[in-house]
Amino acid sequence: MRFAHFVLREQHLARRFAEKVRYRLSRESGTVTKPHGGRVKFALAFPSTYYVGMSNLGLQIVYRLLNNMEDAVCERVFLPDPPDLLELETARTPLFTLESQTPVQNFDVLAFSLSYEMDYPNVLKILSLSGVGLTSAERDDAQGFAPIVIAGGPAATFNPEPLANFIDAFVIGEAEPVLPEIVSVLSCSRGEPRPEVLKRLAAIEGVYVPSFYTPYYKPDGTLLCTKNAPGMPKKVKRRFEPDLKNYPSVSAIVTPETEFADMILAEVARGCGKHCRFCVAGHAYLPPRARAEADVIKDIADMRKLVEEHTGKAPRVGLLSASVFDHPSSLLICRSLIEDELHFSISSTRADTLNEDIVAALRSGGHQVITIAPEAG
Ligand code: SF4
Repeated sequence: MRFAHFVLREQHLARRFAEKVRYRLSRESGTVTKPHGGRVKFALAFPSTYYVGMSNLGLQIVYRLLNNMEDAVCERVFLPDPPDLLELETARTPLFTLESQTPVQNFDVLAFSLSYEMDYPNVLKILSLSGVGLTSAERDDAQGFAPIVIAGGPAATFNPEPLANFIDAFVIGEAEPVLPEIVSVLSCSRGEPRPEVLKRLAAIEGVYVPSFYTPYYKPDGTLLCTKNAPGMPKKVKRRFEPDLKNYPSVSAIVTPETEFADMILAEVARGCGKHCRFCVAGHAYLPPRARAEADVIKDIADMRKLVEEHTGKAPRVGLLSASVFDHPSSLLICRSLIEDELHFSISSTRADTLNEDIVAALRSGGHQVITIAPEAG
């Protein structure tokens, strides 16, 4: 009797979590649902809650990139909110994706978008909740039934080593040039033994597979050297996309349930040419590339149409870059948004880029608070 009660409670908790997920989806504009059949299935994870993750443009860029590929389908997964986390653990329900509520362990790939090293413990939490095996070695023992775990993003590019035992492959650099090659490799290597698949992934420029590299340490614990397995490159080269023209860098999904609620995030430029030693943006995203004014405006207009069709309301716009007003046409972009009666704000800018025209445009766009970095650059 007590056992039956326990099972019913487990089912109730899992159902409650699934209902919450469906409610969230109903409030989103831009969600993609694609049939899984025959495609490489990605569960794209952000190692924090939905509220935090949905304000991350990197996650959204990867979501769009993968779902735009014919051979791939991508669904999202987040760290559950604290009360849900407890319930899921109590109900022993494996973590599932938002879009189709499919358990993560049924996907071909679990891909993490890593922006902050402070989120690394949450990566382990998601691996554990998903039941896919915590370490690469455990997944090797699963004889091909565990997803390949991949990580990318600025933190993965800058410092992958703390997660080297837990991640099967890192993307070093930008997703745009590497992801199509990963999809192609995974699509062609279905049914092959896991070590073979990892070898093929390691052959892609910009992909680092830690299990093919062995670190050696000095008696004081500092690194002596790293030896690569035969056939593996000694140094993994960072990849970047020279021309961002064909890659829309705006939000794929807009939702009210996030820090930047009901806001289209739009990247106006990538990287920064000032090279301050302490700054990731000044090193991980070189060379600096400004997106064409017309492309930024068109991408925002396309997304605005989609949001207005779904909500009946005009969204706000957030212009993103390491220093927005370093973009040569930033003022023209702002004026175009004002003309289209869109409220906008910016992520940050260097103090010496501000002038009266820019401040006037920010005021007309409804901007109230500005982050400037007087000590930098
Ligand atoms: S100017 Fe700012 S964004 Fe550019 S490298 Fe320096 S700190 Fe980073």
